[in-house]
Amino acid sequence: MSRSLSAAIAHHRLAQPFAIARGTREAIDLVRVTIAHEGREGSGEGAPNARYGESAPDVLQQIMAMAPSIAQGIGREELLAMMPAGATRNAIDCALWDLEAKLSGVPVATEMPAALVTAVTVGIASPRDMAERARMLVARHGADGPPPLLKIKLDGHHVEDRIAAIRAAAPGAVLIADANESWDMALLRRVLPALAAARVQLLEQPLPAGRDDALEGFRSPVPLSADESAHVAADVAQLRRRYAYVTVKLDKSGGLTGALALAQAARDAGMGVMTGCMLCSSLSVAAAWPLAAQSRFVDLDGPLWLESDVPGGCQVEQGMLRAPDALGWGRP
Ligand SMILES: [Mg+2]
Repeated sequence: MSRSLSAAIAHHRLAQPFAIARGTREAIDLVRVTIAHEGREGSGEGAPNARYGESAPDVLQQIMAMAPSIAQGIGREELLAMMPAGATRNAIDCALWDLEAKLSGVPVATEMPAALVTAVTVGIASPRDMAERARMLVARHGADGPPPLLKIKLDGHHVEDRIAAIRAAAPGAVLIADANESWDMALLRRVLPALAAARVQLLEQPLPAGRDDALEGFRSPVPLSADESAHVAADVAQLRRRYAYVTVKLDKSGGLTGALALAQAARDAGMGVMTGCMLCSSLSVAAAWPLAAQSRFVDLDGPLWLESDVPGGCQVEQGMLRAPDALGWGRP
């Protein structure tokens, strides 16, 4: 019997608005894929991102167009050759990983950590409101275990004030920041001393992708990570001259297969790895877990923003993100 593919759009409202430099979201559309074979089912999810020209209806259509190839039994390596990186390939690749585990009886990964420290996001707001959210997140994290990891979203306004207010509100937290392409080189040079003084440990994507060549030869006092500039392993040859880290996300790399290859290429180039995610359900986080397990920073708080998650979704206990068992992903 041949493999059958089905897919659908899942609409999720956010528990509260999510504000970054590109705008504010109150709901998201995800696309879920199921590939069935011999009575077993593999699941995958893609989070279409308008930044990369993706929409849920387009992704759904592109996934369904792959049904004949899936029915013929193509594997992940063939998929990699047939489709560009992005949310569409991610959903199919993850469903194939899950199906492989269920058919073979061998889990996607063994010896996975039961829990990881994930960054939790402080969205863009006034310096006072961002400090208040940071204070709340630190209190929710609790005093036991590793310190909280806060990811501060920034645009081009009030950068020094926002960072100083958050550092004052969360003196013991590890801080990382993300400008989502909203700065230029002059602003970056101006605010870096304030970020360094506040002990910010990582700054994601200050300059727009495609216009980050000015970073070549620039020595930043805060390590820089390529997010919007980093998609697939072949990008590393250029990124290594501009960034110290790569932010790896399954939706950008077009699946766990491509994401693991990007992370390996980054490490081979002496770069650090952060595992991130889009706004997504815990199905995406379960698929990213093998990558997160080998990353310096983990930023997988996407599902925590949803009003309702898939069954077996992420739980946070004592500041640690428990490995989700979303739909039993990756397990036989
Ligand atoms: Mg980012």
